[in-house]
Amino acid sequence: MLLISRIKMHEISLVRNIFRTLEEEFPKDIPRIRTINLTVGLLSNVQPILMQNAFKVVIEDEPQYNQMCLNVIVLPILIHCDDCGKTSEVEKYRFVCPCGKPSRNVIQGEELLISSVEFDDVENNIK
Ligand SMILES: [Zn+2]
Repeated sequence: MLLISRIKMHEISLVRNIFRTLEEEFPKDIPRIRTINLTVGLLSNVQPILMQNAFKVVIEDEPQYNQMCLNVIVLPILIHCDDCGKTSEVEKYRFVCPCGKPSRNVIQGEELLISSVEFDDVENNIK
């Protein structure tokens, strides 16, 4: 534990924050949660693999979360061009619209949120 890097500490505190949020949102249903779907934009500086590693580390400390798994959904960066009105995906951090105009008008890519939570008996409820 002493060798954990600063980056990993960052991810660990994110995972702890996720658990605290779930405790606030679903105080009675924590044992029923099976999957946490986390949406992260490419600009949020959250690496899925580091999140998964941090998730394992935190679960060792907080075994009540043992039954959960983390699913990280990465969103590409989208910019909107005020010049031509188009929305396009940023590749290799080049914030330039296909029309040639640079744009810093980011409309997707900075997300860091719990997009949904799946409970163990959701399927049973649907049937
Ligand atoms: Zn454009």
